[in-house]
Amino acid sequence: MRVTLLSYTKNAEHLCAAAANSCYSGRGASELIEETDERKVENRLLTPLKAGHHSVIEHASFTFSIEGVSRALTHQLVRHRLASYSQQSQRYVGMKNANYVMPDSIANDEEASQRYQKLMDLIWEEYRYLSDKLPLEDARYVLPNACTTNITVTMNARELWHFFELRCCNRTQWELRNVADEMLRQVREVSPVIFSKAGPPCLSRGRCPEGNMSCGHPRIELKFSGQDAASESSAPEKD
Ligand SMILES: Cc1cc2nc3c(=O)[nH]c(=O)nc-3n(C[C@H](O)[C@H](O)[C@H](O)COP(=O)(O)OP(=O)(O)OC[C@H]3O[C@@H](n4cnc5c(N)ncnc54)[C@H](O)[C@@H]3O)c2cc1C
Repeated sequence: MRVTLLSYTKNAEHLCAAAANSCYSGRGASELIEETDERKVENRLLTPLKAGHHSVIEHASFTFSIEGVSRALTHQLVRHRLASYSQQSQRYVGMKNANYVMPDSIANDEEASQRYQKLMDLIWEEYRYLSDKLPLEDARYVLPNACTTNITVTMNARELWHFFELRCCNRTQWELRNVADEMLRQVREVSPVIFSKAGPPCLSRGRCPEGNMSCGHPRIELKFSGQDAASESSAPEKD
């Protein structure tokens, strides 16, 4: 599995802060974006965020390349509709090599892993036979959920917040959770103010909404380790 933040809004925090502040200022965002006082920028961003006015962070977007993950993962990922996707096509790209994900639970069980590998070998043997003879778009019907794929995804910061709440949660399957954790780590590096409080609800909201389904283990390991902008910010300044 490889996750790469390919591209992102470079001045995301200044941009979103200026957009937020333009709602309450006589000045326009073209002027407000020139603000050089970082504390002001933080406050202008965190005040609406704390109030739940998350539309201001929709102005920032982030594009990732997610590679070598299973089709089982991407099937779950693309359920997130407020995003843009480009996925490797099994109609145009032949899958001649047996590239598949093996879950740890299977890898750690000798008999299960042998049976799994045997099945994958058989699947690929038949896939090669079919794809030599027939269109790839038909041969691919025998490929498993485990088959690896690459996908490019773009989300804005608001959708990422939502995605992290659902997919950094222990209730999400390990493979997508690992990808979501890595995405969170990478966006925090470039936009720490926007994402310092992002994560599963046990972190972002300080409580779990899962009721009886709760895992009971807040993911404190995901706590932002940089300067905690949200808790250090002072009262909102008037423009
Ligand atoms: C632990 C877990 C288990 C799951 N199990 C299943 C399962 O068994 N079966 C299954 O089918 N899915 C399952 N899902 C997928 C889940 O139901 C959602 O489809 C997926 O998480 C995307 O979430 P979303 O719709 O909130 O997000 P997005 O599509 O990213 O949308 C973001 C937000 O935009 C708004 N929105 C988007 N589209 C609309 C719309 N058409 N109308 C109104 N508001 C909209 C909503 O507020 C939504 O929360 C599971 C998800 C998780 C995290």
